[in-house]
Amino acid sequence: MRVAFLGLGIMGRPMAANLVKAGHEVSAWNRSAGKEVPGARSAATPREAAEGAEVVWICVSDTAAVEQVLFGENGIEDALKPGMVVVDSSTISPAATRDFALRVGGHGAEYVDAPVTGSKAGAEAGQLIFMAGGSEAALEKLKPLWSAMGKNLFHMGEVGLGQASKLGMNLMIALTYEGFAEALALTGKLGVKPDALMPLIQASMVRSGVIDYKAPFVLRRDFSPNFPLRLMYKDIQLMLDAAKEQRVKLPGLETVAEIYDIAVEEGQDHLDYAATLTLLEKWAGVEVKGTAA
Ligand code: NAP
Repeated sequence: MRVAFLGLGIMGRPMAANLVKAGHEVSAWNRSAGKEVPGARSAATPREAAEGAEVVWICVSDTAAVEQVLFGENGIEDALKPGMVVVDSSTISPAATRDFALRVGGHGAEYVDAPVTGSKAGAEAGQLIFMAGGSEAALEKLKPLWSAMGKNLFHMGEVGLGQASKLGMNLMIALTYEGFAEALALTGKLGVKPDALMPLIQASMVRSGVIDYKAPFVLRRDFSPNFPLRLMYKDIQLMLDAAKEQRVKLPGLETVAEIYDIAVEEGQDHLDYAATLTLLEKWAGVEVKGTAA
């Protein structure tokens, strides 16, 4: 298929590369220069990338960035055609998503929100999990593209429900990781070695995909960004905004949000969100380090 791919960050670049590998004709665009995808045509603007494409796939930072590539200067709006499908794999506001879908629909094109889970490793391996909102027919058209970039597609319902589901998923990731980090800080202070704790966690019901993914990085003190803290911080704000809108109380998340506020104030926003552990360590006067990982 002819696909325009907009946004070549940690996630977007390997996703676009997997489309090329699967034999699709990809035109790729990134806001700042120097990020390219071998085998894809580099476009100068989102609009130029979208000209003649059957599908436009977006993976940029946040709601404002998606609005910019859709409707800003040189955005794809003027290239939209009936039958075209616009897919957004960024994590953004569900309410803004419904608004973007209406505006895209006004040009006869379809909109699908398809945020992902699986992080950098999942994007590179073509093993992402998509949670999509949109019509059955639009999702069907995208069949060869889902399989090139991911291992699972979950259809969550109408447009916006992919993003709504993603907020729930990341809420659990933030709280699960915080539980792991607090357990490491407390047990570390009490004298338990992380190398002894890990097999216990793995053998028990607290084992989780989040811990499986994060523990090796944490135990070798590698806080380079797989999922940057600034993006989890953005997602926490999206969750809190949606909760306010819907009058849902989230006391656990509100407490975790305070830790992210401090992490951002301390300049950790460019690190992985796993770096929130280092604040707990500082407050406890302990450092968690493994030898096995
Ligand atoms: P990233 O590495 O920070 O890349 C962000 C991309 O957005 C870059 O291409 C950036 O362009 C572009 N961008 C930012 N502001 C823009 C604007 N105003 N106009 C146009 N382009 C803009 O982020 P990522 O990790 O790839 O994440 C992308 C999306 O996927 C985010 O919504 C994130 O929450 C979500 N996500 C990430 C992960 C993960 O583990 N990393 C997992 C699931 C979902 P420049 O290169 O010019 O800065």
